[in-house]
Amino acid sequence: MFYYTQLINPSSPLAFDYVPESLTTAQIPFSPSANYERRQLDCVAASAAEALFAQASLDNICLTGVSGYRSYLSQKQLYENALKRNSTAVAAPGTSEHQSGLALDVSSPSLDFELEESFSDTTEGKWLKTHAPIHGFILRYPKRKEHITGYPFEPWHIRFVGKTLSLYLSLTGLTLEEYHGMKLTQTF
Ligand SMILES: [Zn+2]
Repeated sequence: MFYYTQLINPSSPLAFDYVPESLTTAQIPFSPSANYERRQLDCVAASAAEALFAQASLDNICLTGVSGYRSYLSQKQLYENALKRNSTAVAAPGTSEHQSGLALDVSSPSLDFELEESFSDTTEGKWLKTHAPIHGFILRYPKRKEHITGYPFEPWHIRFVGKTLSLYLSLTGLTLEEYHGMKLTQTF
Protein backbone atom coordinates (compact mmCIF):
# COMPACT_ATOMS: atom_id res chain seq x y z
CA MET A 1 0.00 0.00 0.00
CA PHE A 2 1.34 3.38 -0.95
CA TYR A 3 0.54 6.68 0.74
CA TYR A 4 1.33 10.22 -0.32
CA THR A 5 2.46 10.87 3.25
CA GLN A 6 4.96 8.00 3.16
CA LEU A 7 8.40 8.55 4.67
CA ILE A 8 11.24 7.76 2.26
CA ASN A 9 14.78 8.06 3.59
CA PRO A 10 17.82 5.85 4.23
CA SER A 11 15.97 4.17 7.16
CA SER A 12 12.78 3.67 5.11
CA PRO A 13 13.97 3.02 1.55
CA LEU A 14 11.85 2.08 -1.44
CA ALA A 15 12.17 -1.38 -2.96
CA PHE A 16 14.68 -1.43 -5.82
CA ASP A 17 11.92 -2.47 -8.21
CA TYR A 18 9.40 0.14 -7.03
CA VAL A 19 8.00 2.15 -9.93
CA PRO A 20 5.07 4.56 -9.37
CA GLU A 21 1.88 3.25 -11.00
CA SER A 22 0.72 6.44 -12.61
CA LEU A 23 3.71 8.40 -13.88
CA THR A 24 2.84 11.21 -16.20
CA THR A 25 4.74 14.06 -17.81
CA ALA A 26 4.18 17.22 -15.77
CA GLN A 27 3.05 20.13 -17.93
CA ILE A 28 5.38 22.71 -16.41
CA PRO A 29 8.47 24.49 -17.78
CA PHE A 30 11.59 22.34 -17.38
CA SER A 31 15.27 23.19 -17.58
CA PRO A 32 16.94 22.17 -20.87
CA SER A 33 18.87 19.43 -19.00
CA ALA A 34 15.69 17.60 -17.92
CA ASN A 35 15.26 14.43 -19.97
CA TYR A 36 11.97 12.60 -20.56
CA GLU A 37 12.23 10.55 -17.36
CA ARG A 38 12.91 13.58 -15.15
CA ARG A 39 9.87 15.43 -16.51
CA GLN A 40 7.60 12.77 -15.03
CA LEU A 41 5.78 12.78 -11.70
CA ASP A 42 3.06 10.72 -10.03
CA CYS A 43 -0.16 11.94 -11.70
CA VAL A 44 -1.64 13.55 -8.56
CA ALA A 45 1.68 15.24 -7.78
CA ALA A 46 1.91 16.37 -11.41
CA SER A 47 -1.51 18.10 -11.24
CA ALA A 48 -0.49 19.78 -7.98
CA ALA A 49 2.79 20.95 -9.54
CA GLU A 50 0.90 22.31 -12.54
CA ALA A 51 -1.38 24.32 -10.21
CA LEU A 52 1.64 25.60 -8.26
CA PHE A 53 3.49 26.67 -11.40
CA ALA A 54 0.34 28.25 -12.87
CA GLN A 55 -0.01 30.38 -9.74
CA ALA A 56 3.68 31.30 -9.91
CA SER A 57 3.22 32.48 -13.46
CA LEU A 58 0.20 34.60 -12.43
CA ASP A 59 2.41 36.17 -9.75
CA ASN A 60 5.14 36.82 -12.37
CA ILE A 61 7.44 34.29 -10.74
CA CYS A 62 9.50 32.27 -13.17
CA LEU A 63 10.03 28.74 -11.82
CA THR A 64 11.56 25.80 -13.67
CA GLY A 65 11.42 22.09 -12.95
CA VAL A 66 14.88 20.50 -12.96
CA SER A 67 14.30 16.92 -11.87
CA GLY A 68 11.15 14.98 -11.01
CA TYR A 69 11.06 11.19 -11.26
CA ARG A 70 14.31 9.23 -11.22
CA SER A 71 14.23 5.46 -11.55
CA TYR A 72 16.28 3.21 -9.25
CA LEU A 73 18.74 2.69 -12.11
CA SER A 74 19.17 6.41 -12.85
CA GLN A 75 19.70 7.06 -9.15
CA LYS A 76 22.26 4.23 -9.03
CA GLN A 77 24.16 5.81 -11.93
CA LEU A 78 24.08 9.27 -10.31
CA TYR A 79 25.25 7.77 -7.03
CA GLU A 80 28.10 5.82 -8.60
CA ASN A 81 29.25 8.84 -10.61
CA ALA A 82 29.18 10.95 -7.43
CA LEU A 83 31.27 8.35 -5.59
CA LYS A 84 33.84 8.48 -8.39
CA ARG A 85 34.07 12.24 -7.77
CA ASN A 86 34.36 11.50 -4.02
CA SER A 87 31.09 13.34 -3.47
CA THR A 88 28.56 12.15 -0.90
CA ALA A 89 25.89 14.66 -1.96
CA VAL A 90 23.80 12.12 -3.88
CA ALA A 91 21.31 9.80 -2.16
CA ALA A 92 21.98 6.07 -2.41
CA PRO A 93 19.67 4.17 -4.79
CA GLY A 94 16.36 3.29 -3.10
CA THR A 95 16.66 6.12 -0.58
CA SER A 96 15.88 9.01 -2.93
CA GLU A 97 12.38 10.49 -2.87
CA HIS A 98 12.75 11.07 -6.60
CA GLN A 99 12.12 7.35 -7.17
CA SER A 100 8.61 7.82 -5.73
CA GLY A 101 7.59 10.36 -8.37
CA LEU A 102 6.56 12.69 -5.54
CA ALA A 103 9.66 14.91 -5.41
CA LEU A 104 10.59 17.77 -7.69
CA ASP A 105 13.72 19.89 -7.77
CA VAL A 106 12.90 23.48 -8.70
CA SER A 107 15.10 26.33 -9.86
CA SER A 108 14.72 29.38 -12.05
CA PRO A 109 16.29 30.95 -15.13
CA SER A 110 17.69 33.70 -12.86
CA LEU A 111 19.86 31.01 -11.20
CA ASP A 112 20.69 29.38 -14.52
CA PHE A 113 18.63 26.33 -13.43
CA GLU A 114 21.23 25.49 -10.79
CA LEU A 115 20.28 23.76 -7.53
CA GLU A 116 22.00 25.99 -5.00
CA GLU A 117 21.41 27.05 -1.43
CA SER A 118 21.29 30.67 -2.63
CA PHE A 119 17.91 29.84 -4.23
CA SER A 120 16.40 30.48 -0.77
CA ASP A 121 17.43 34.17 -0.99
CA THR A 122 15.90 34.74 -4.42
CA THR A 123 12.38 36.06 -5.02
CA GLU A 124 11.54 32.73 -6.67
CA GLY A 125 12.88 30.67 -3.75
CA LYS A 126 10.96 32.74 -1.20
CA TRP A 127 7.79 32.49 -3.25
CA LEU A 128 8.18 28.71 -3.50
CA LYS A 129 8.63 28.32 0.26
CA THR A 130 5.43 30.28 0.96
CA HIS A 131 3.23 28.81 -1.75
CA ALA A 132 4.31 25.15 -2.02
CA PRO A 133 2.28 24.06 1.06
CA ILE A 134 -0.91 25.57 -0.40
CA HIS A 135 -0.61 23.06 -3.24
CA GLY A 136 0.33 20.00 -1.18
CA PHE A 137 4.13 20.27 -1.28
CA ILE A 138 6.65 20.73 1.54
CA LEU A 139 10.23 21.93 1.48
CA ARG A 140 11.48 18.53 2.50
CA TYR A 141 14.99 19.41 3.76
CA PRO A 142 14.74 22.69 5.67
CA LYS A 143 17.44 24.72 7.34
CA ARG A 144 18.25 23.87 10.98
CA LYS A 145 16.66 20.42 10.61
CA GLU A 146 19.70 18.84 8.97
CA HIS A 147 20.32 16.64 12.02
CA ILE A 148 16.78 15.24 11.74
CA THR A 149 16.45 14.77 7.98
CA GLY A 150 20.08 13.77 7.50
CA TYR A 151 20.20 16.11 4.50
CA PRO A 152 21.79 19.52 4.03
CA PHE A 153 19.43 22.45 3.49
CA GLU A 154 17.84 22.01 0.05
CA PRO A 155 15.56 24.98 -0.68
CA TRP A 156 14.91 23.58 -4.17
CA HIS A 157 13.58 20.10 -3.27
CA ILE A 158 9.81 19.95 -2.81
CA ARG A 159 7.89 16.78 -1.95
CA PHE A 160 4.20 16.15 -2.51
CA VAL A 161 2.45 14.91 0.66
CA GLY A 162 -1.12 16.14 0.02
CA LYS A 163 -2.64 19.43 1.18
CA THR A 164 -3.73 18.38 4.68
CA LEU A 165 -0.25 17.29 5.71
CA SER A 166 1.63 20.01 3.82
CA LEU A 167 -0.37 22.73 5.60
CA TYR A 168 0.03 21.00 8.95
CA LEU A 169 3.79 20.64 8.53
CA SER A 170 4.24 24.21 7.33
CA LEU A 171 2.24 25.57 10.30
CA THR A 172 4.08 23.46 12.88
CA GLY A 173 7.51 23.58 11.24
CA LEU A 174 7.83 19.82 11.64
CA THR A 175 9.70 17.63 9.16
CA LEU A 176 8.27 14.42 7.73
CA GLU A 177 10.62 12.44 10.01
CA GLU A 178 9.23 14.23 13.09
CA TYR A 179 5.64 13.68 11.94
CA HIS A 180 6.20 9.95 11.48
CA GLY A 181 8.07 9.79 14.79
CA MET A 182 5.04 11.38 16.53
CA LYS A 183 2.72 8.82 14.96
CA LEU A 184 4.89 6.01 16.35
CA THR A 185 4.70 7.36 19.89
CA GLN A 186 0.95 8.01 19.92
CA THR A 187 -0.73 5.76 22.47
CA PHE A 188 -4.24 5.40 21.11
ZN1 LIG B 1 15.70 16.55 -5.03
